[in-house]
Amino acid sequence: MMHPFTNKKHFEYFDDDSKSNIAAKPKFDTEKTHSLLTLHGPNGASYNFTSCWCSVNRQAMHSDASYESKDATLPSTIHPLLLKKHVEFLVGYTPANNPYEYAVTEHLRMNGMFWSLTALDLMGALDQMDREAIVTFVRDCQHRNPPAPFAELEASEALRSRTVDASHATAAAAASLPSQALPNAPDTNTGVGSDATPSTDARTNAAQEAARQKYVKQLVAASASQRGGFGASIGHDAHVLSTLSAVQILCLFDRLDAIDEEATVAFVASLQQPDGSFVGDVWGEVDTRFSLCAMACLSLLGRLDAIDVQAAVRFIQSTANFDGGFGRVPGSESHASQVYVCLGALTIAGAVDACVDRDQLGWWLAERQLPKSGGLNGRPEKLPDVCYSWWVLSSMCMLDRLQWIDAERLAKFILACQDDVAGGIADRPDDMSDPYHTVFGLAGLSLLARLGAPDAKVQSDQEGVVGVSAGLAIKPVNSVYCLPQDVIDRVMQRNKDRRK
Ligand SMILES: [Zn+2]
Repeated sequence: MMHPFTNKKHFEYFDDDSKSNIAAKPKFDTEKTHSLLTLHGPNGASYNFTSCWCSVNRQAMHSDASYESKDATLPSTIHPLLLKKHVEFLVGYTPANNPYEYAVTEHLRMNGMFWSLTALDLMGALDQMDREAIVTFVRDCQHRNPPAPFAELEASEALRSRTVDASHATAAAAASLPSQALPNAPDTNTGVGSDATPSTDARTNAAQEAARQKYVKQLVAASASQRGGFGASIGHDAHVLSTLSAVQILCLFDRLDAIDEEATVAFVASLQQPDGSFVGDVWGEVDTRFSLCAMACLSLLGRLDAIDVQAAVRFIQSTANFDGGFGRVPGSESHASQVYVCLGALTIAGAVDACVDRDQLGWWLAERQLPKSGGLNGRPEKLPDVCYSWWVLSSMCMLDRLQWIDAERLAKFILACQDDVAGGIADRPDDMSDPYHTVFGLAGLSLLARLGAPDAKVQSDQEGVVGVSAGLAIKPVNSVYCLPQDVIDRVMQRNKDRRK
């Protein structure tokens, strides 16, 4: 039977302290939670409706609760950590073995390489990859050359026929699109119908020529502003997401010397806006993800001085919500992955304590663990997903609240998502594995291993250890950069040496 929403009932529930004794969590603070659940709107109005999600989650954590939240079911057999299979899965994730996936994920190539290579390094198997070939590919994705002069592009017959020299990557990418997909782009295919009058012809041709010139100018401007940035693949537009992945990959291989570092710094710094936020690329989308990408990239290059860090912190503060979490932009919903990027940026800036209530946000993050499966979700009332083992746990590490998670149950959830035949880790049990969930599952296990020795209850004589101790077989991971800690130590030492 479905009951209507009754605020009073939920508050009665919260007011009963006897129900709040959940192991490994701080004592329930009724007063604090009431204020946490009150959203202050404009004109002094306040709303308490948010008690709904929080209380149902809490109810579900009690054995006598009748409420069933969305959750996944774990299989009856959970394998130990299948490291060898995961290495084989990632090393074998080649264009030849996955031609369709390879073709349709070209726009994610740089990120995909970062996920796979980091996972391999966490498992101590990075030497199985062709280091020089990868470094060469990454270097070729950097927009290094000065943009083509306007006159050259403007006069380009190739632009009209849409086959442009590969060195004009931006123009080539744009010119390969159908003209109707491009703002103000001239349509050179359709022209004017034969029944048009000469004067209409002339006007149309003049308008088309003006539009074409304006369009070429836009391409030249876009090309100039991309210098130093990295595309996801060779010839792709530069973006801060692929630029950070490129820098992270070069950190893994200790080959930052392979790129034009100064141009990279200039590209990333050029993305900061007057309000402290960052756009991802020349087309102007703002997102707190880009704040972390920019700040992580510059700190790995030892060049945080190239941006206004205080302004960046102020923008992130402006995206904080009443529940302690963070969103993409001011006013947008709290989400665990946005919490990660904001906390990561604040950690790099050394501003966590000035901006965050560690207990309040730690509580919201701990609430992401689901009662049945032990997996973590990204928002209330969503299914668990292995990748949140990274977004949530790394955030709790940065808050020094990792111990608020039931580590053994989460480790079991991650292990239950392994593909015991093909290798790799999926988002949920029985789903298809992929490099993205593989790296974040492994990184999550690595963080869980920080919580100490395994519990004897989760060991199995036949199949090895299943549980927290599985993480001990993986290198320690840095909770801000998602890179092995030894890589971060080496990069930070390099930056220190260069400052001398
Ligand atoms: Zn996921």
